Amino acid sequence: MLTRLILNPFGVRQPIQQPLWCPVCGNKQVSYLPLPELYRENAHRYGYVNFGKGEMTSLATYTCSTCGASDRERLYALWIDQQIKNKFFSKGARAIHFAPEAALAKYLNRKHIFDYKTADLMMDTVDFKVDMMNMPFDDESFDFFICSHVLEHVDSDDQVIKELYRITKHTGCGILMAPIIVGLKKTVEDPSVKDEAGRWRLYGQNDHVRLYAHDDYVAKIRSHGFNVEELGESYFGEEIFRSLGLKRTSILYVVSK
Ligand SMILES: [Zn+2]
Repeated sequence: MLTRLILNPFGVRQPIQQPLWCPVCGNKQVSYLPLPELYRENAHRYGYVNFGKGEMTSLATYTCSTCGASDRERLYALWIDQQIKNKFFSKGARAIHFAPEAALAKYLNRKHIFDYKTADLMMDTVDFKVDMMNMPFDDESFDFFICSHVLEHVDSDDQVIKELYRITKHTGCGILMAPIIVGLKKTVEDPSVKDEAGRWRLYGQNDHVRLYAHDDYVAKIRSHGFNVEELGESYFGEEIFRSLGLKRTSILYVVSK
């Protein structure tokens, strides 16, 4: 339960209990766990200056203690549930989930509306082992994709976006997410930095190769032909954001052709 203050009819602030809810596991009484301390410790150790400034990463309420879903997975599941309810996806819609997060993959497998496949370069448990810069799928193969926190890892994010555009049906859409730093003016990217310490310092993680600024990120996606919708707290509602443990600056990037 989350305790917050509201004004009662007499104008006095009083606490109310608000249930926390995880749309990934469906549990209505979850608690959330903080982001592992390792990230804060390494930010301090290596001099990463943008720790805690991620648009989406909620330091205090990062992981659902029931299913392990991260904050962003909870936002994806919320949006997908809404689209299913609105009959946006038709039965048998071809969906592909890249670098599938475990809790979200379980959730999507339960949604029998999708013809659901998974893909990744390194994972052994996926349906397709693919290099996203050169995918073995026909043009316009999928109605829906989820590509979350991949673009900051790959050699060419442009090539991955180009491939995503190619394999998406002309009526299709996708969730396309990467870590974005609030207030960062320009995307940070230095291909000459290849060591772990340097990457922790520049990007806040040893296997990242860039750190996105919002405007650059959106412009890059648009440059490959996608439309970009940015759905934040004003779209989903403050109460829902709070009950899902989402940071108020969180934005869901939905792309379409
Ligand atoms: Zn959960």
